[in-house]
Amino acid sequence: MANLPALAPPANLFDPNASDALPMPGATDAPGLWTARTGVACLADWLGRLGRRLLAACDRCQACQGLLPADASLPLCPACRDRLAPRLGGFCPRCGAMGENAEATPGLCLDCRRDGRPWDGFAFHGRYEGLLRELVLGFKFHGRLGQGRLLAGFLAAAWRRAAARDGPGCPDGAPDLLVPTPLYPRRLAWRGFNQSLELARLLGREIGTPLAPLALARLRDTVPQSSLPGRERRSNLTGAFAADPAQVAGRRVLLVDDVMTTGATVETAAQALRRAGAARVDVAVAAR
Ligand SMILES: [Zn+2]
Ligand SMILES: [Zn+2]
Repeated sequence: MANLPALAPPANLFDPNASDALPMPGATDAPGLWTARTGVACLADWLGRLGRRLLAACDRCQACQGLLPADASLPLCPACRDRLAPRLGGFCPRCGAMGENAEATPGLCLDCRRDGRPWDGFAFHGRYEGLLRELVLGFKFHGRLGQGRLLAGFLAAAWRRAAARDGPGCPDGAPDLLVPTPLYPRRLAWRGFNQSLELARLLGREIGTPLAPLALARLRDTVPQSSLPGRERRSNLTGAFAADPAQVAGRRVLLVDDVMTTGATVETAAQALRRAGAARVDVAVAAR
């Protein structure tokens, strides 16, 4: 039985009441510290934030900030929409590994045929490169919420596409729960938010599935996977996750992350969900 650390429910980055609150200058200052100098600095800061909010409110492409045509259905200009087109063919439906020919019918890759995977179905939007990579990094490291919304829209469309297909590696029916890949608390405190949780929250609204933000916990901090060679990534994650059987046993879980590269993180997290008794684990990532 996994002992998960007690955690407070995570804050909602996309809560309109919270994220749109723009405190008046000085509203958060301790009483007695208000001086003319801090007053001018706070007012300048507030006006800057107000300007950025107004600019963001205009219809702009979330990828390049160019103005959008009046009839745009997505917050993307035509050029960026082309560069962010989803991968529709030439990939393994179980793990998203991509071949040369993007037109080929999806088929299981050698690794998935030989070794299998600890998850069942898989959905992704596109390759982790170019503009898609810039969006992922802009959301994760710079907190660009518009880019997060865009990525969540890609995730929802990718999930619907995968769910509409048949065969191995394809989701089978709707999930009971969305579970984000957790960050270790110290890393969460440093970054300020968990990008996977925010994507899962928006995806849950899109596909009507409840979110279980504390069903999976990170038990220890690990060296960032991107800094390790492939063969060390799995051992780096041994014992890194535990899932709460009370939340996942017998349930169909959709594990959500922003990116999957070698798959070591998703694999370890999916194994923890399985150990806790999940009936099924599907995976959705924005980029692969
Ligand atoms: Zn654009
Ligand atoms: Zn595969």
